[in-house]
Amino acid sequence: MFSSVLGATISGFRQNLTGSVAFVPTMGALHQGHLQLIAQAQEIADHVGASIFVNPTQFDQAEDLEKYPRPIAEDLQLLHDVDCDFCYHPTEKDIYPEGIPRLKSYDLGYLDEILEGAYRDGHYQGVANVVYRLLDLIKPDYLVMGMKDYQQIMVVQRMIDAEKLAVEIVKVPTVREESGLARSSRNTRLTDEQRKNASAIYRNLNKLRSSRARAAEDWKTAKEGFAEDLAQAGFHQIDYIALADADTLQLLEDYDDTKRMIVLVAAYIGDVRLIDNMKLGT
Ligand code: AMP
Repeated sequence: MFSSVLGATISGFRQNLTGSVAFVPTMGALHQGHLQLIAQAQEIADHVGASIFVNPTQFDQAEDLEKYPRPIAEDLQLLHDVDCDFCYHPTEKDIYPEGIPRLKSYDLGYLDEILEGAYRDGHYQGVANVVYRLLDLIKPDYLVMGMKDYQQIMVVQRMIDAEKLAVEIVKVPTVREESGLARSSRNTRLTDEQRKNASAIYRNLNKLRSSRARAAEDWKTAKEGFAEDLAQAGFHQIDYIALADADTLQLLEDYDDTKRMIVLVAAYIGDVRLIDNMKLGT
């Protein structure tokens, strides 16, 4: 049976659950990516809960926060339809009872200075704070997260280690549209044409995946080709196309086959900022 849980009732609700709990935090506007996380959670735990909270502290741009879609009735219906056990739907006051200026500051090290950390001021502090608060309320055994937000998983792991929380992160591969575009709540803000053209990110990531492509040109040349192709597709601003060590996220100047590697991208099409990544295989 599905329960929608509001405000302070979450603690009592949680206490009444026996057995293991897997938790999927979201900002709503649910799509197949989120539902894949729920499906994965259902494989590993006795109870599965999601949360829907558009967390103001992780937005660095007021306009992005304002425009973030909030179809709450549809979201609750979707969670009900996929047999999710509960959805926690807090208010800002539930999450930040002492107010937003009282955020805890986490030492996220290098992760806060590169890629998303560099481009979105305060974003990961907001993420670490909201996830800590949600974990404290829900006390799950498993925290199920998507690899689309690769750096976010590393940030949350760091917070979990710092707080010594007994929760295991379960990572779910990126779910894509038929065109290859990574599913995202922000995709609904794209025109049909932009949505079609946005698959250029996936096309280029895919091209880099094979070692044959890597033998043909160095990273600098590959990156230039990637950027040109995105520009052709209508991306008017590229925040980064980066090559990194997939285990540490240390940035790499060129391919290094002694390391597991990942390519990460953030770029704007229209006024929508999209991110994606792909690990490089052999
Ligand atoms: P969000 O609602 O965007 O904050 O995302 C909530 C969770 O869903 C995060 O763990 C995301 O990484 C995950 N997620 C979002 N999009 C996808 C996707 N296309 N595939 C897999 N997981 C995703």
